[in-house]
Amino acid sequence: MGDNEAPQGGISLKKPAVFMDRDGTINEQMGYINHITRFILLPGSAEAIRLLNSHGFLTIVVSNQSGVARGYFPIDLVHEVHRRLQQFLQQEGAVLDAILFCPHYPNGKVPEYSKTCACRKPRTGMIEEACRQFSIDMANSFVVGDRCTDMELAARAGLKGILVRTGYGLGDLEYVMPNFPYRPFHVADDLLDAAQWLVRRDRPGGPGRKKNHPAPVIRSLLFP
Ligand SMILES: [Mg+2]
Ligand SMILES: [Zn+2]
Repeated sequence: MGDNEAPQGGISLKKPAVFMDRDGTINEQMGYINHITRFILLPGSAEAIRLLNSHGFLTIVVSNQSGVARGYFPIDLVHEVHRRLQQFLQQEGAVLDAILFCPHYPNGKVPEYSKTCACRKPRTGMIEEACRQFSIDMANSFVVGDRCTDMELAARAGLKGILVRTGYGLGDLEYVMPNFPYRPFHVADDLLDAAQWLVRRDRPGGPGRKKNHPAPVIRSLLFP
């Protein structure tokens, strides 16, 4: 019996995940978040994450933070932002199961982080890492983000992408997407609209999940 199976009847405990971009998707796009004061949640983000929590989705942030490698801000600031994010969400009864980020950039200024890595989106390293940490029902998992590269990430990982119109979304949709090979499976106004769309799919009459998994019984509490 593998880690993914329950003791009785081989019932799968795999949960679908929503891999969420951070800047422009959960919080306002402010260029580089190079100071904690530039970290502002978008309206509805907490409600969206709470909705996904209550419907059995793993909520996992996957964020490129190349400003670390570029020397724009220290990696400690990224951790501070993520602590703040979890605090904000906790006040609203929402929780992120994991927050993963890539601090790398090939031509950065900080030697430690200046490299070609496997985790910078649209590469799939962060999703692979999440799959090592959680039992993820990949067939029913999604990537939500505001950039075409998030849609490419989804395609490379074999997932469906939802493009949000917040952040760079509207501009990418209008000017980049027409010539971009990776199309979103769905376009949503914002993260809450995306979450509501995802939850509706699970209702009777909706397309539903590919296999009808039972409600999850394990909540992993991981705050790297
Ligand atoms: Mg973004
Ligand atoms: Zn990386």
